[in-house]
Amino acid sequence: DGWIWLDGEMVPWREAKVHVLTHTLHYGLGVFEGVRAYKTEKGPAIFKLEEHTKRLFESAHIMGMKIPYDAATLNQAQIDVVKNNGLDSAYLRPLCFYGSEGMGIRADCLATHVMIAAWEWGAYLGEDNLKNGIRIRVSSYTRHQVNSLMCKAKATGNYINSMLALQEAVNDGYDEALILDASGYVMEGSGENFFLIKDGVIYTPDLTSVLNGITRKTIFTFTKELGIPIVEKRITRDEVYIADEAFFTGTAAEVTPIREVDNRTIGSGTRGPITEKLQTMYFDQVHGRRAD
Ligand code: PLP
Repeated sequence: DGWIWLDGEMVPWREAKVHVLTHTLHYGLGVFEGVRAYKTEKGPAIFKLEEHTKRLFESAHIMGMKIPYDAATLNQAQIDVVKNNGLDSAYLRPLCFYGSEGMGIRADCLATHVMIAAWEWGAYLGEDNLKNGIRIRVSSYTRHQVNSLMCKAKATGNYINSMLALQEAVNDGYDEALILDASGYVMEGSGENFFLIKDGVIYTPDLTSVLNGITRKTIFTFTKELGIPIVEKRITRDEVYIADEAFFTGTAAEVTPIREVDNRTIGSGTRGPITEKLQTMYFDQVHGRRAD
């Protein structure tokens, strides 16, 4: 139950439906965002709302999709969805998808529809794992060509790679996957950016083939404040194995420590001290307990 914003109107949750000939359902091209609202003293606050909406428009632009609303309208719609559903905290999912008025691969002649849903969502990778860290494996599904070079778009089609990688990892008893590029360099998780810490320096893959994460960007502001050096570079698999600490970041995963990669213990095998510090800063910021 609840309300979903669909093409400019608040629609009851059960009535927010699409036709089976919806183009995006057949060919998989749509663009979306993952956004969170957190409980603060002043009520629910959507973290980095404008940045998420901006990325939604950039994703659409990359994919040649036209969004028939402006950013201000979609920002307000997200605020309204949280409010109308009476949520204190929420995960929000804006999605732009092509209509059902024509089949065939060509999509730029079709209408673009926009929907925004919100629901309560706890720790994406598990509450306990935020404290103790997750176990991950390097995925056998490397990221190739279009997916790799077009990954600034948070587009549904790009998630085939992520879905196969996550499915494989979970089926093998791990919590998440670590995806490599075609040359074998570390990219990201199925829905998270990756960081490692070695000898007091933080390393993260440069943005060539990973999503420009909004949580990732927030981590950069923290490390600057703390005076911890951070280096963007190509990272190899063996560098991950001998890291002192490692963690994932994402709107859904927040700051999740990694305690094991490919059955090798990372550092002390639990959440490391720098990871813990950054995680605390993150939760303080999203809950409005520190300046934005
Ligand atoms: N990488 C991928 C592939 C993602 O889907 C996400 C999730 O949005 C991220 C990284 C993290 O990005 P953000 O911190 O903006 O949520």
